[in-house]
Amino acid sequence: MDCIFCKIAKKEILKEFIYKDQEMMVFPDINPIAPVHLLIMPKKHIVDFLDLEDNLLFGKLKTVIQKLIKNQKLEDRGYKIIVNGGGAQIINHLHFHLIGPLGKKVSIE
Ligand code: AMP
Ligand code: ZN
Repeated sequence: MDCIFCKIAKKEILKEFIYKDQEMMVFPDINPIAPVHLLIMPKKHIVDFLDLEDNLLFGKLKTVIQKLIKNQKLEDRGYKIIVNGGGAQIINHLHFHLIGPLGKKVSIE
């Protein structure tokens, strides 16, 4: 299958991972739109968010994203989690974008 994220998962394309385990992987977006722009995804080829049926896997993705928000120190600097789907995506392998900081707070100190 000609899927770049599957090739990364199978190590046919080498990538430095921020995090990986048996089921998921996280690496920086090649074209970041903010200082932190990470892609979090299952290694398994799931095409679209609507195809994500495995609640256990969804829960694991959630836990990893929550940990990343904290270790990237985004919890109070503003972040967005984006899933493009239904044709809005470029790559048809489900992935979550974690983007930040995007804070609107102005410091007066
Ligand atoms: P989308 O499918 O619209 O959510 O966007 C796919 C994202 O993957 C874009 O932000 C690309 O910059 C990013 N991307 C594409 N190829 C790679 C790659 N080889 N390594 C890291 N990020 C990539
Ligand atoms: Zn894939």
